[in-house]
Amino acid sequence: MKSYITHLECTYCGATFSCDEIHNTCAKCGKVLYARYDLVAARKEFKKDDLLRRPGNMWRWFEIMPVRDPANVVTLGEGHTPLLPALRLGKPYGANQIFFKEEGLNPTGSFKARGMSAAVSKAKELGVKAIGAPSAGNAASALSAYGARAGMQINVFMPTDAPEMMKKESFMFGANVYLVRGLINDAGAIVRAASPSRGWFDVSTLKEPYRQEGKKTMGLELAEHFNWELPDAILYPTGGGTGIVGMWKAFDELEQLGWIGSKRPKMIVVQAEGCMPIVKAWREGKRHAELFPNAQTIAAGLRVPVAIGDYLMMDALKASGGTAISVTDDEIRLAMSEVARSEGIFASPEGAATWAAYKLLMAQNFLKPEEKVVLFNCGSLLKNAELIDVSGLPVLDPKDPDLLAKIK
Ligand SMILES: *Cc1c(COP(=O)(O)O)cnc(C)c1O
Ligand SMILES: [Zn+2]
Repeated sequence: MKSYITHLECTYCGATFSCDEIHNTCAKCGKVLYARYDLVAARKEFKKDDLLRRPGNMWRWFEIMPVRDPANVVTLGEGHTPLLPALRLGKPYGANQIFFKEEGLNPTGSFKARGMSAAVSKAKELGVKAIGAPSAGNAASALSAYGARAGMQINVFMPTDAPEMMKKESFMFGANVYLVRGLINDAGAIVRAASPSRGWFDVSTLKEPYRQEGKKTMGLELAEHFNWELPDAILYPTGGGTGIVGMWKAFDELEQLGWIGSKRPKMIVVQAEGCMPIVKAWREGKRHAELFPNAQTIAAGLRVPVAIGDYLMMDALKASGGTAISVTDDEIRLAMSEVARSEGIFASPEGAATWAAYKLLMAQNFLKPEEKVVLFNCGSLLKNAELIDVSGLPVLDPKDPDLLAKIK
């Protein structure tokens, strides 16, 4: 196996940089860098059949992944997750083409595993010994796991009110865990301030070029699942936006490989009403989003008030005929229970938000019942146990003479 990576390219000003030295954002304009590949050469050598002979993780796409030496891959078996048809939820809408991409089955229970496997692997290849990152929670636990696997020193910074399990995971994986009185952007400022003097590589979302290479594999897998014919719409719970821009990049690369045509799904950003910078900018027709004030939602992964990749998301929404939509925390809670009861899928609040958004978009006629739609359950609800209230459950006393009368 050989990677066809050639260089890094700025998505904003077009400047190019070496992919064999450490870079964060563009040294000329400060915007997002993308890994680029020699897809003309890859097209001749890399065949769909090659995938079938490889292990079931995201590194089976090695030719269009950024690591040069397979020995540097740091894997815990991430990716290659199931695409589960919804069996009941679509019925009231006459829709039988709804699918859940079940990302909760990833190592550390969220799709952050993909991005961090890619970022940590490339960092290892470039000789990085210590990494710092801000996180709303899941990125910290994923980075901590891959850091442990790679034998690197990991430093994570998350809000004091991040979900408990994500703090515990990071702690158990041996990372230095700091809780910040503030949001992910406040944590990001601390990482930027501390990194230079401590020699940390900063892997903040879209502020290094490789996390989105891991996330793009979600798009590659969808193409393969649907036999190289992309679905009609993708609903994606959006925080920093790595996934949405990563998948968009994946589709472009697959077309250049000659594996898919020019059809693209409508890319749909789903955010929470309490933190919807991208939805707001989309409604106002702007390419850049402003910092969203007082961000608050039960969906921690969506509590990202400012995103460096805003313009990349806007471009994908526009080019795909997609949209951006927000849902309330109450709608998310209802959706969580509907998805769990109807489908047996333990969806995180972020994942459930896509089902809440689907219902709204059907009501608005933006989506049609016959359309093939993918909802991303980006993480497992196992990580948000505090959102589930079981205090009202009946308690039985085995010696109670009326015991059986108390059972339905
Ligand atoms: C990080 C995260 C998101 C947001 O993903 P981005 O690609 O950063 O937009 C959504 N849901 C969960 C569970 C997450 O951990
Ligand atoms: Zn630039």
